[in-house]
Amino acid sequence: MTRYAITVLEYAASPNHPTSGVLYGRHNSGSMNLPFAYVVLRSSDTVALVDAGYDQSDFGGEIANAIGVTGWTPPSEVLGAVGIRPEDVQHVFLTHAHFDHMGGLAYFPNAKFYIQKREIESWVWALSKGRRFRSLLGGINPADILRLVDLGMKNRLVVLDGASLDILPNVDLLPAFDTHTAGSQYVVVRNGGSLEDRWVLTGDVVYTYENLHGGDRDDPCFVPPGLATGSQTNLILAAEEMLDSVGGDMLRLVPVHEEKLKDHFPSRVSDRGLRIIDIATI
Ligand SMILES: [Zn+2]
Repeated sequence: MTRYAITVLEYAASPNHPTSGVLYGRHNSGSMNLPFAYVVLRSSDTVALVDAGYDQSDFGGEIANAIGVTGWTPPSEVLGAVGIRPEDVQHVFLTHAHFDHMGGLAYFPNAKFYIQKREIESWVWALSKGRRFRSLLGGINPADILRLVDLGMKNRLVVLDGASLDILPNVDLLPAFDTHTAGSQYVVVRNGGSLEDRWVLTGDVVYTYENLHGGDRDDPCFVPPGLATGSQTNLILAAEEMLDSVGGDMLRLVPVHEEKLKDHFPSRVSDRGLRIIDIATI
């Protein structure tokens, strides 16, 4: 029965991120620290990543600078802190195409990449609409879309059309269409094949725990992320679906932009000052 160690690896941070980008409707509510991270899944014979970070040396770095992201660290150092080389990564599950999730494609020379067909199609469409629609393109590096096409021609891209169960043993990719982006997906790890020992890696459908409780745990309220090109209603319906799949246990959902993961799971800080959080061990 395959089990996975699940580790969240911070690789940068947005220390003064507008709260309204994280929690819909929180206008004039100041800013918050937003870690940027990817997740490594390790079994006895597999190394997989959920998302790929970005490349500070290309347009992704310009987007990051424009929104005040600091501390970017290359995958060789981020993964090196847990004894992995980028070359060891066999699979990368892309939750969506925003620069901070998909801009690091070139760093993983031996990986296959997995993305929803609808995500690619929607960005090609948005790019075709011209400058007046550029508000739709926030957070996108167009070169990343071209890199996906190139990976496809090299048989290193798997384009999914909806749910894909057991993409690896006990790992499912599930769509959350028309939410944070048109073709977002999230990852479910069923450790040991168990219904109980289940973890949901939310992508940006859920940024933080507060998206799930709205700040009042006694009278919780779903609050969707502020940044979305899809539907706010679908965002919270997808959050409900995730939460229902783990019996309502919020701590079984792993939002990578959540600074409070460290309060709930064992963690340490790397030499570069980046946090490493052990969600599950084997
Ligand atoms: Zn995003």
